[in-house]
Amino acid sequence: MEIFYEIEPLKKRLAALRRQGKKIGFVATMGALHKGHASLVEISNRENDITAVSVFVNPTQFNNKEDLEKYPRTLDADVKLLEEYEADILFAPSVDEMYPEEDTRQFEIGPVAEVMEGKFRPGHFNGVCQVVSKLFNIMAPDHAYFGQKDYQQIAVLKAMVNKYMPEMKGKIVSCPIKRADDGLALSSRNQHLSEEQRASALIISKTLFGAKEMSDKGATQKEITDYIKKQIASDANLCLEYVEIADKDTLQPIPGDKPANAVICITVYDGKTRLIDNILL
Ligand code: AMP
Repeated sequence: MEIFYEIEPLKKRLAALRRQGKKIGFVATMGALHKGHASLVEISNRENDITAVSVFVNPTQFNNKEDLEKYPRTLDADVKLLEEYEADILFAPSVDEMYPEEDTRQFEIGPVAEVMEGKFRPGHFNGVCQVVSKLFNIMAPDHAYFGQKDYQQIAVLKAMVNKYMPEMKGKIVSCPIKRADDGLALSSRNQHLSEEQRASALIISKTLFGAKEMSDKGATQKEITDYIKKQIASDANLCLEYVEIADKDTLQPIPGDKPANAVICITVYDGKTRLIDNILL
């Protein structure tokens, strides 16, 4: 695997590969890599000649300084995992390399970015759009792979691309959530969990699976959200930030009693660790 810390040499290398007719797949990450990230690398490897991965903890998408400071940074282990999964290129820039000057761009994304994570993490999606648009410009990938674990992020990035980067239209690929054998969605933040908190976290995915079953049997939106709230409240470590049943494309509330073409998105604090998950109905 080739490792780049600077933009210009990386761009040169990618341009040379492109001249050789190579298709480039791109996976953007914040590091602390796990099998969820690896699954994106595997999909990219299948669909492209070259897989380039970025590892960059992007400060502009953190609305909470403490969260940014304690975000896990494990570059040596990340390199090992990427070599094991046969990524071709790693881009691991410094903050100064990515932001030689302050990025003051404001992305007007619209309603899809204003609900859920947009509401509870002000500025988060603007930071995501800043970093991903920069990375897309650097990589100019043929395809870019994102996990449905961050369901709303994919919807926001598709909207960002439609409005601001038409050259990337249709190139964002949405990949399934990778879960531990017991159902917990893999996340870099899981490593903050104690054994007891890890056991509590399991309630989140179990509850989502239960909610899907209820929906399949015809339950109403209210019945489903009441069930979810009750399950989460049953564990002392867990504190629900929000649960929304939303249209799977627009992420807006669904009219009527029954959910249709819907996704359930949930955010729960497990101790101090903020966990997100979702399930399509
Ligand atoms: P992150 O490093 O958390 O910013 O995630 C980088 C990319 O990996 C994003 O597109 C995430 O949605 C994706 N990702 C993170 N966890 C998982 C998972 N458990 N399954 C699938 N994709 C994931």
